[in-house]
Amino acid sequence: MAIDLRSDTVTRPTADMRRVMAEAEVGDDVYGEDPSVRALEEYAAGLLGHEAAVFVPSGTMGNFCALRASAEIGTEVIADAEAHIVTYELGGLAALGGVQTRTLPGLAGPLDLAELAAQIRPRSAPKTYNMVPTSVVAVENTQARAGGRIWPLDRLERLRAITDDAGVVLHCDGARIWNAAVGLGVEPRRLGQLFGTLSVCLSKGLGAPVGSLVVGDAEHIDRARVWRKRLGGGMRQAGVLAAAGLYALRHHLDRLADDHRHAAELAATLADAAPGRVEPKLVETNMIFVAVRDAESFAARAAARGVLVGTAGPTSLRLLTHLDVGDDDIRTAGDVLARLLAAEAVHATAGDPR
Ligand SMILES: *Cc1c(COP(=O)(O)O)cnc(C)c1O
Repeated sequence: MAIDLRSDTVTRPTADMRRVMAEAEVGDDVYGEDPSVRALEEYAAGLLGHEAAVFVPSGTMGNFCALRASAEIGTEVIADAEAHIVTYELGGLAALGGVQTRTLPGLAGPLDLAELAAQIRPRSAPKTYNMVPTSVVAVENTQARAGGRIWPLDRLERLRAITDDAGVVLHCDGARIWNAAVGLGVEPRRLGQLFGTLSVCLSKGLGAPVGSLVVGDAEHIDRARVWRKRLGGGMRQAGVLAAAGLYALRHHLDRLADDHRHAAELAATLADAAPGRVEPKLVETNMIFVAVRDAESFAARAAARGVLVGTAGPTSLRLLTHLDVGDDDIRTAGDVLARLLAAEAVHATAGDPR
């Protein structure tokens, strides 16, 4: 089978995970009667240091429900210009939520946080009638389009102080919050408690087949639950899925360190083979960006040799390590990709038309 580095979403449930799914106690979760869903929600809330959580089918729905639980119609969410909610969620906040997104380049860094503070338009401030009030500042941790970079803790703490002062909610798109916690070597709650709400994913690095959670205080989660149902995300005997998620949280969190080690190894191999194409210092978690001449054709050549890679732009590859990629796979993928990169470099120096 091909070594699939396109995304950390491609993992399949393990045999043990399938067993707990098969044995899960279930009920009707729209009635609040699915014990496995409840167990997952309670566990996740506790893990992240919050009061409550709600299980949702996807991270996109999680972000929407969390943000819409804080942001009324006609208000704005401030986010990084490269954020997933801005780039990859089909404009849902605007299309379905009546909420505007204002993007700031470099929110995750290097934007000066004092500058961000000056951009927030608190509802409580004396304002002219036509100003759009800010309801939420949303960050992404880890930040996908920055290569899985981790927000420095001190920057997050300063940001939380700023949003508290302004009376706006600090939300985290935490699809990969688990990678951030493992990468920093802190308990997830240390990160969780810095946010008013979070959306966290069970089906990426953790390897569950489906699902995300919105986490926060009881009031926000009640509102998020209403939005979930309104969007058609109320699920019935969802315990079979929740059981997989709970298993993943209990058993697959610490092993993310292996994914990070694999990414570092692969980045080092590729940097050796083709200096300047990969910056190993920027590889903080499970994601590697590689500069190539033509991403689509490179990906096709790699696929023909049994390694699937993602593209992040016309000249950029994105590789992710995950649960279904082992030590040997990393060595094999390193060999294949290093050879292709080296061939490209030779080609480039020998009369490349660029
Ligand atoms: C994957 C992802 C999401 C959305 O997840 P889906 O389950 O695919 O909807 C949100 N934010 C980030 C940063 C992601 O990587």
